[in-house]
Amino acid sequence: MSWPATTRYQLDAAPASLALVQDFVNTLPAGIPRGTDLLADLPAAQAWLDAAVEEWARAREVAGTAVVLGEADLVHLRALRTDLVGLIRAGAGADNAEEEHRISLSATSLLQVGDAGRVRALPSGKGWRYVASLLLIEIYDAQRVNTWRRLKTCRNHRCSAAFFDRSRNNSRAWHDVGVCGNLANLQAHRARKRAQNSQGQ
Ligand SMILES: [Zn+2]
Repeated sequence: MSWPATTRYQLDAAPASLALVQDFVNTLPAGIPRGTDLLADLPAAQAWLDAAVEEWARAREVAGTAVVLGEADLVHLRALRTDLVGLIRAGAGADNAEEEHRISLSATSLLQVGDAGRVRALPSGKGWRYVASLLLIEIYDAQRVNTWRRLKTCRNHRCSAAFFDRSRNNSRAWHDVGVCGNLANLQAHRARKRAQNSQGQ
């Protein structure tokens, strides 16, 4: 078993259970060539969620809960995904900092004293609300241990695949430098050529 959405873009998973947030974002039709939207319809979304929750439970070393989605959950899940992409982009660079303020996201969770007296947050709610709770708990944890800033989406907005930046200075911009990085270089090169040509006329 592996993360169902991230693996299809040949990307390494983020550490521990932050990989769930990455996998959720990677349900997007991202990458080049484009993958399919894993939240396009109910069977696809349910299949993704079942596999992702199983993987999450393994990473968290807890028992997984079966979450049943309904048709009405899909629109909320897709909106949640758009919000999370905005949140990741806002955290990754100053150029999109204003996006952060437009995002209003909340979820409920249950705080429980677990083993060795450690308080932990457990997801609560049904359907898409449970998924939102699960994701926000992971983001909260990642922000506390400072790994959140390393979760990024590809700078190529037509791609937007989510990757975890393990570079020393957290400077990675592309999900795959050989694909999206080269494409950007080529486009910049063509733009310079065009500018030179128009100046020469
Ligand atoms: Zn990319």
